[in-house]
Formats: sequence, C-alpha cells, structure tokens
Amino acid sequence: MSKNILVAVAWPYANSEIHVGNITGSYLPADIFARFQRLKGNNVLVVSGSDAHGTPVTVRADAEGLTPLQVYQKYHHQFLELFQKLGLTYDLYTSTHTENHFKVSQSIFLALQKNGYLYTHKELQWYAPSQGRFLPDRYVEGTCYYCGFKGARGDQCDSCGNLLEATQLIDPRSKIDGSTPELRETEHFYLDLGALQPAIVDFLRHREHYWRSNVLRQSLGQILAEDLHGRAITRDLDWGIPVPVDGWQGKCLYVWFEAVIGYLSAAIEWAHINGDRDAWTAWWTNSEGRAYYFIGKDNIPFHAVIWPAQLIGAGEWFGKLFDNRPGARLILPYDVPANEFMNLEGKKISGSRNWAVWGLDFLSRYDPDPLRYYLTANMPESRDSDWDWQDFYNRNNNELVATWGNLANRVLAFAYKHWDGCVPQPGELRPADQALLATVEGGFDSVGEQLEAVHLRAALQEALRLASEVNKYLDTSAPWFEIKQDKQAAATSIYTALKAIDSLKVLFSPFLPFSSQRLHGYLGYDQPLFGEQFVETQPDSLGEHEVLRYRPAQASGRWQPSQLLPGQTLRQPAPLFTKLDDSIVRAERARLGD
Ligand SMILES: [Zn+2]
Repeated sequence: MSKNILVAVAWPYANSEIHVGNITGSYLPADIFARFQRLKGNNVLVVSGSDAHGTPVTVRADAEGLTPLQVYQKYHHQFLELFQKLGLTYDLYTSTHTENHFKVSQSIFLALQKNGYLYTHKELQWYAPSQGRFLPDRYVEGTCYYCGFKGARGDQCDSCGNLLEATQLIDPRSKIDGSTPELRETEHFYLDLGALQPAIVDFLRHREHYWRSNVLRQSLGQILAEDLHGRAITRDLDWGIPVPVDGWQGKCLYVWFEAVIGYLSAAIEWAHINGDRDAWTAWWTNSEGRAYYFIGKDNIPFHAVIWPAQLIGAGEWFGKLFDNRPGARLILPYDVPANEFMNLEGKKISGSRNWAVWGLDFLSRYDPDPLRYYLTANMPESRDSDWDWQDFYNRNNNELVATWGNLANRVLAFAYKHWDGCVPQPGELRPADQALLATVEGGFDSVGEQLEAVHLRAALQEALRLASEVNKYLDTSAPWFEIKQDKQAAATSIYTALKAIDSLKVLFSPFLPFSSQRLHGYLGYDQPLFGEQFVETQPDSLGEHEVLRYRPAQASGRWQPSQLLPGQTLRQPAPLFTKLDDSIVRAERARLGD
C-alpha cells in the first residue's frame, strides 16, 4: 500500500550563496529521504522555494545597490543551478514572491482572524521622519545599553552579544541615512499562541516518543518551562505580502509567518502547474499522509510550534479559498528531523568572513556524489559536526573510492573482459555465494529501517559495511586467480559479486544518485533509476518566476534485491569516483578566510 509522503524542505533566504552547512542541515537529508521513499513506491511530494521577503533581503539589496526583487531573483537563480548540479529532486522549488503564495498566505491569515486567533496590539517603534517610514530593527544602530558599544544593531550587539530591544538603544540613528529616528506608536497583529497552547502541547505529546531530543527540547520542553505568548505577525515594511485588512496599507505579513505557509502554497502551485488543481489535497488533507520537515536547528520553534499553531488555528481552511467547497483540516507535521550545525575546520561557518565551503564553488572542482557522501557521513544529526578537508580527502579515498568505487569497477571490468561484455552464466551457487547474497539483500531491511527513521548517517554506514562484505568475499573466492584453473567457478563468483553490486547500487542510490545511475548503465539497464530535474519559467501576475521541477516518468529504481539475469549485456565500465591527490588539502585550506 503506497503512502503519501510530503517532504517539506527549509526555504533559504534569497540573500546569500548556499554553503555546505546549509546543504547538510536540510536540503541534502530531504533529498536522500525523498529518493528512498520514491524507490519504496510511495507517493512523494517534495516542495520548497526561495524566501524572497523580509529584512534579510532588503538589507542585502541596500548593500548591493539593487532592488529587493533583483536580489531575490539573483540568488534564486543561483539556488536553482546548485540544486540541479547537486541532484536535489524537488517536485517543485518555487518562491514566496508569487501570486499563489500571496493568496494562500493571506487566506490563512484571514482564517486565523475569523477563528479568533489573532489580536492587535499597539507598541512603540523607531520612525524616520526624514524618510517617512518605520525602521525595522535591523535598520537602526546605536549605543548598546549593556556594554556601551557604539555600533550595536537594533536586534543584537555585536560586541557583547546580547539580544537587544531596539526601542532602548541609546543615541539611535538610521542605518540608511544616519538621521535620528523618533519613537512612534504602531499597531500590529499578533498570533494568539497562548490560546493555541493546549492544542500544541497535545500535538507534541503525540510525537514525543519518536522525535529527536534536540527538537523536543526546543518545543515541548520550552513550552512546559514557560508558557507561550502572542507573537507579532506583521511588520512595518513595504517588501512582502500586504496585510489583507482595510486600513493596514504599508504593513506586511512577517516573513516568518508567511514563509512556512510556503509548504502549503507550493503544493497548491505544483497541483496547478500539473493541471490537476486538487491534487495537493492527497498530501495536505489526507489523515493517513505523513509530512516530514527538514530544517536546521535554528528553525525548530518555527516548525515545531508556530507552524503547527497556524495550521491548527486555520481550522477547516481551504474551502474558503476554493469556491467555498467544504474545508478540511490540514495535516500537522509527522516529524521534524532537524539537524544541528556543521562547522568548518573547527570554527563556526561565517559567510561574511568567507569561512565557508560554497556549494557552487565546490562543484566547480569536484563531482556531486563525493560531496553528498561526505556530507552524509558527517551529517550533524545529533550534535554539531565539522567539515575538515583532511577528513574529506581521507573519506573520499579510503571509503568512497577504496571500499565502493573500486569494488564495482574491478568486478565490472573483469566480467566485461572475460565474458564478452555479458553477465556470466553461473554454475550452482555455493554456500558462500548464497551467504553473501543473503547478507547484502538484508540491507534492504537494515539500511531501509535507518532511512525510514531518518538516521541517514547510520544508513550510509550500513551500506558501506555491506560493500566491504563483498570485498571480503572476493578476497576469499579470488576469481582473478580462480579463472586460470576453473572458468566456471570464476563465473559463479563474478555473477554473485555482480548481483551483490547491483543490489548495493540501489542501497547507495539515495545518497549517491549520479554514480549509481552510471553503474546502473554499466550493468546494462536502459531505464533510469530516477526521474529527471528541469527548470522552467512560470507566468505570474507578480512577474514570471523560475521553478525547479522533477519528472518521475521512466524511473525504474525499486527498493528491492537485484534480479540480474545471466547473459545481460554490460556496457564498457569506467571508474565511478576519482581518487584525490593529497595536495588538495593544503590548496583548499588556503582558500578559506578573507
Ligand atoms: Zn553590547
């Protein structure tokens, strides 16, 4: 019985390039999980997009002398290029700057308002008379009221590290023109998290037994320690989604409130693009469906508390947006397998100081699978991890190349040469042959269970362990020598090894899709393991936007043991991976930093 699985992936801010910490934090684990679920035959929908709004984008626009729209488009385009090169198979990767997302976000806002979960509150905020507008916190600088540092930002002091109340800054000035702002009263909408708290606690209690402890600590643990308070969901900003209430012109939905709604709006856009506009409900209103949210630890409260609160508060929402048909409840997150952070050579990654390994830059020198391998082997699933170039070099050469790549290449090349480019006809399988195949085929359970639980490091480690079992088998059976005395015995060994490799190809394929596809071709298969990625432009009343999509047609990969037939025609094999020279360690370390 196929399951409907929604894979919801963190939305990157379209204001800077993507580095390896971002990739291993959420984008890569989501893709590995989605590929596995597709191989299992489940109905998978992977959605995400670029977060185009909010002060992170406007601040960057000011710094680069561009408009916010230009900044968003520039980085969005880079993301699409990176995700294609890295093989991240989004069914739809879109953006928050679309008419569809505006409509869906505004309608969730109105549903929350109608259901009584929004209230308004007046507060003081810095206002720049010289520009005739309110200044978001990041646009105000002044003297820190903790330590006296003169260049403190409105939201945080870079000298003492304290989070600041912008309204209490001493000697405030506008970052835009240096003018002195004044405090003026402004009004905002708040999400009444206090009223939703019992429902949120109930939701979290039902997931307590299988969620990661870091996620529970930052959700249920914090709520039990301190009650939830209302949270402002509008801002005085003109770049974003207008508040859909008369008299609220010039204010926008807070970027965090609307970005999470993107998981829903992107599914709706996906259905619309495919010409079956109700198709999204199979994931969103089907109580048997499961929604997994792949995010980094900095986003846990937004996905484990605030987004569920929005979903619960919206009630039977969607009928209001779609011809007033009867609504249905939207499903709540099944799991939020948030990752911790990846550091770089022992220090926190910092984009502004160029202490980072950038995705596109890396892929200009290396293949995608070694990156996917290293980031999975080192994934910060339960604690922070570290990218270390020496470790990257060691793992590439000693694990990826030595244990897996050489195994596949050695056996394929030998079969290709000695059996006229075909899979040899084995004699009756001996106990050692049967034992090896049973061991490797057990991987569909053992690797599969780890993948199902989103323990991706353990899953990869198990697949690698099974590859080393095949190496041990070959050390013992030694077909390279066997062939000199008994070609039939060698044929049986090589057939057994090829069949094991054919199964391992599937076990490795969620992690290493590019090399697994090449291996699939060398083994003589014609249909691809997975579907295809492609970029296209969608028309939109806010201006056309580029999207990344996935075409599943033709994909033939299945999460099941090899059925390799004797006599199948092989293709001329070539090495799957490149052995690196140790000079890369010094060269790459020299690139780091300003
Ligand atoms: Zn300070």
